[in-house]
Amino acid sequence: MTNPSPRPEILTIHSYVAGESDIPGANRTVKLSSNEGAFGVPPLAQAAIVAAASGAYRYPDGGAGRLRSALGVRWGLDPARIVCGAGSDDLLYQFCLSYGGPGRDIIMSAHGFSIYRIAGTYAGSRVIEVPERAMTADLDAMLAAVSPATRLVFLANPNNPTGSMLPEREVARFRAALPPEVLLVLDSAYAEYVTHPAYDAGAKLVDATDNTVMTRTFSKIYGLGGMRIGWCYAPPGIVDVLNRVRGPFNVSVAAQAAAIAALAEPGWVEKGQAHNAEYRPRLAAGVEAAGLKVWPGEGNFVMVDLGTAGMADAADLFLRGRGIIVRKIGGYGLPQCLRVTVGTAEEVGLAVDGFADFMRQSRG
Ligand SMILES: *Cc1c(COP(=O)(O)O)cnc(C)c1O
Repeated sequence: MTNPSPRPEILTIHSYVAGESDIPGANRTVKLSSNEGAFGVPPLAQAAIVAAASGAYRYPDGGAGRLRSALGVRWGLDPARIVCGAGSDDLLYQFCLSYGGPGRDIIMSAHGFSIYRIAGTYAGSRVIEVPERAMTADLDAMLAAVSPATRLVFLANPNNPTGSMLPEREVARFRAALPPEVLLVLDSAYAEYVTHPAYDAGAKLVDATDNTVMTRTFSKIYGLGGMRIGWCYAPPGIVDVLNRVRGPFNVSVAAQAAAIAALAEPGWVEKGQAHNAEYRPRLAAGVEAAGLKVWPGEGNFVMVDLGTAGMADAADLFLRGRGIIVRKIGGYGLPQCLRVTVGTAEEVGLAVDGFADFMRQSRG
């Protein structure tokens, strides 16, 4: 007898490693491993989730019409060009499955977001990982990797886990140099946190071309990672494809209600931005003062470089001993680094003290 077997490439996929949330035996854990916002769920969104409960026996609005309208108003975009997903990951999969496939290559940067590799391989594409320069996507090297088989390029901006940010001008130059048949996916999951003036989240380039999309999420600054909701802004032809292939009810009743309410929460994004603008530099400076290298970044996290995988593992273990969970990123080709989310003021203090004490004890 023969058991069912998937296509062979499926078994080359390593499951996505999520940030851990618990340390067995610790009486308090500080979770700085998944870049969730520092302030929990917006109060209006909590109320909306509760209020949605009694209507949850009905299927959701498959087109997420009210949410798309609210997003259109919030960001000045045409709601007809917005598609919602069960997290932006959902949409990243749909891009790979629709535009990738056997004989259709996908290009990403070596330390790019790991879902691109997982979803691309799932689709049957060859996924080409292009080495970076100074922890930043090397756009010229990515262009050099383009062949007639290339159909999709993923760029997270800012990137996770490195935090690196590409200026609007460079992204536009990159788009212009890519062949027209290549879909460029700009993953702007951390857009709300960026303070750099040369940044654009991508909507302008989506408007200016018919082969560029921008993805966004409610999982970071909006504090709704557990509800699974994201969206993309795309040209009409791509919107049409997504609406053919996505799950017809991919965003739940509660998720749609929560997202609409989160957009209406007064001052929520401003609070997250102000906190991050103050505490990301504090976290970075504190870790640097402990004698460690921190790569500059624009997200709600920093990447700490411990030099060797051994030191990174030891620091991770030391922090765990105090109930602090950061993210090991060996799966991103960065075993010598740890990614640390900007938590609350108290959590940032605990993380800084943790790294400082680790360095003290490792010097002996
Ligand atoms: C967190 C994150 C996402 C968002 O994923 P969701 O599925 O929307 O929760 C997408 N891209 C990057 C680079 C991320 O870090």
